[in-house]
Amino acid sequence: MFCGCRVTYGEPPNTHTCPVCLGHPGALPVTNEKAIELGVMAGLALNCEIAPRAVFARKNYFYPDLPKGYQISQYDAPICTGGYLDVPTAEGMIRVGITRLHLEEDAAKNVHVGESGRMHGSVGSLVDFNRGGTPLMEIVTEPDIPSPEAARATANQLKEILRAIGVSEADMEKGQLRCDANVSIRNPDGSFGTKTELKNMNSFRFVERGLARELERQRRILVGGGRVEQTTLHYDPEDDEVHELRSKEYAHDYRYFPEPDLLPVEITPAWVREIRSRLPELPDEMRARFMEQYGLSEYDAGVLVGDRDLAVFYEKVAAVSGIDPKQASNWVTVELRGRLNEAGIEISESRVSPERMADLIGLVGEGTISRSAAKEVLDRIFETGESPSAVVEREGLAAVGSGELGGIVDEVISSNPEEAERVREGDQKVIGFLIGQVMKATRGNADGGRVREILLEKLHT
Ligand SMILES: [Zn+2]
Repeated sequence: MFCGCRVTYGEPPNTHTCPVCLGHPGALPVTNEKAIELGVMAGLALNCEIAPRAVFARKNYFYPDLPKGYQISQYDAPICTGGYLDVPTAEGMIRVGITRLHLEEDAAKNVHVGESGRMHGSVGSLVDFNRGGTPLMEIVTEPDIPSPEAARATANQLKEILRAIGVSEADMEKGQLRCDANVSIRNPDGSFGTKTELKNMNSFRFVERGLARELERQRRILVGGGRVEQTTLHYDPEDDEVHELRSKEYAHDYRYFPEPDLLPVEITPAWVREIRSRLPELPDEMRARFMEQYGLSEYDAGVLVGDRDLAVFYEKVAAVSGIDPKQASNWVTVELRGRLNEAGIEISESRVSPERMADLIGLVGEGTISRSAAKEVLDRIFETGESPSAVVEREGLAAVGSGELGGIVDEVISSNPEEAERVREGDQKVIGFLIGQVMKATRGNADGGRVREILLEKLHT
């Protein structure tokens, strides 16, 4: 945020540091203009007011992961305030207010040693300063989230937006998105009860589970006639329980004051306009457009929009003339995405180009290959990236023509007279066996529905 070190992940510890982010005496910070720009962009995507003047402040506290003894953050003049995001939940859309969005530098990473890296019971802690000083955007929401499920959905929606606008990959596993969740049970008069805070959750599932556990804990206390104490907690997924981190000393005095080594940042209306002009289509807008333009269900549109690159890939496939957009969505969201997940790769690393995918869907559409053969072809081109037609030709996967299919059905009927007779007598179960025999004879290169039709036609006339 204030030095030139590269933002990295998974590199050897303490290999991306400099005097500024290590807090050496006399080193001077310089604000990263690009980080400000991305902060403004996130604020615009979250419908915030952009401050004309943002001030960095020192937040003073001591912790091993903070070598300067203070963190450069924003206090009373953050870059964005007062926005909202709309979140689809099981109970319908909810609007979650955004209190503020500010920029700061991240702290370094404490690595706890022993007890499989858990904080409790570890034998010691080491510090990796690679993360120290990287730009961090903190987004604070209003208390508008009604349930743990909605909290998970909110975090997920936020991730989608941040990825869509290219501000962050927002990968929770890489620590690019972390969440502190505050929760309370309302008093009988409707006012908020005492809240507690779950710190540093790093998975959407844990956000939901941790909050559910904490609500149970608060409920037990209140039902027992006790009082909830304002405290900070940690959710441990291993024992599925919340543990108290610290209480009492909660009311920190950070002694904020304006950072004397940095000038305030002036964000002019022209700059905001320029950034707004580069704001891409947001997930909600894209989802609505996919439903409208391609006739997709909300679910399918959501799956595509949830992965920006997959959505772009899909649009290229659907743009090929003669391609049914719903069929294309099926092939991309189910078949292709399934193979990507299995291989553990992203669409950007896939060998299947949108053109090849469209060719394949076209071959099924015109009846050249059956759906099951097409899945085999997809397996092949997923590995090699070659053209679907070439695979069909080489592997002899073209669908068996109707004339030839009729001949095969005749053969199957005459070599299985007993089963054929039972179908004629109305035993529907046996037809599956006969279809299976035909499919076997065609090596799967026939359409199952068509085979059934021909079989029934021949058996009942
Ligand atoms: Zn540095």
